[in-house]
Amino acid sequence: MSAGEPIVLNEVSLRYFTPQGETLALDRVSLGVEPGEFVSIVGPSGCGKSTLLSIIAGILPASSGTVTLGGQPIRRPSPRIGYMLQQDYLFEWRNILDNALLGAQIQKLDRARAQDRAVFLLEKYGLGAFLTHYPRELSGGMRQRVALARTLVTEPDVVLLDEPFSALDSQTRLALADEVVGILREEKKSVILVTHDLGEAITMTNRAIVLSKRPGHIKAEHTFTFAGYAGNHPAPFTVRTLPEYNDYFTSLWQELDIHIGH
Ligand code: ADP
Ligand code: MG
Repeated sequence: MSAGEPIVLNEVSLRYFTPQGETLALDRVSLGVEPGEFVSIVGPSGCGKSTLLSIIAGILPASSGTVTLGGQPIRRPSPRIGYMLQQDYLFEWRNILDNALLGAQIQKLDRARAQDRAVFLLEKYGLGAFLTHYPRELSGGMRQRVALARTLVTEPDVVLLDEPFSALDSQTRLALADEVVGILREEKKSVILVTHDLGEAITMTNRAIVLSKRPGHIKAEHTFTFAGYAGNHPAPFTVRTLPEYNDYFTSLWQELDIHIGH
């Protein structure tokens, strides 16, 4: 298993230009993510979270500042960085196996190797009996697992998750969060999770970065530690039962500074 390399963002800013004018979406964001680290990015809607992930994914160039993986600038999408979106974007006309192979196909990776890995992952995620089924035959949780398999088939070192569970009902969401964290830790990935769900941030990641309202800049940062779990983040479901959970939730909530009605 690759040891991975750090992601470093240095003073990243992003301006969108539209016919109506320009919008500063991100304002000098600096951040480091170590190999194997799970970091969440939280902040109010419209603060630039998805924009930040698209920059790290190499899809959107920063207006200023740099993003590097292992010291090399990220300028375009790379098989080393996997990106999983809020919607699963499965193609209804492709069966589950072919959907899982999509990323590998786009990146022109070796077909036989990608297929072995896709089958291995889908079987591991309980989808072995569904390889030739179509997305419409699957539940929301199963579809998200296919999307995760597709992200992991290309063997990225870093996985970017943009609100991956927001389309799911709350039970499925809790169960899947546990599963996904287990899978990503076992695979020793670095993870950057964008979420507006504070519980998800605290239970799934080791550290949360709080972005301000637009233009997003880093307002605060929290490292989550739990008494009796030195160095090991407990499973998400366990975290919710620990006394520290509520304390972290309260501090994050205050920092988000959400005023209903404004
Ligand atoms: P978040 O994911 O935190 O909700 P986004 O990154 O999607 O926020 O958007 C940040 C800001 O940039 C928002 O104000 C949004 O309207 C604006 N924005 C996003 N994408 C574009 C775009 N393609 N063109 C112009 N403005 C955009
Ligand atoms: Mg978003």
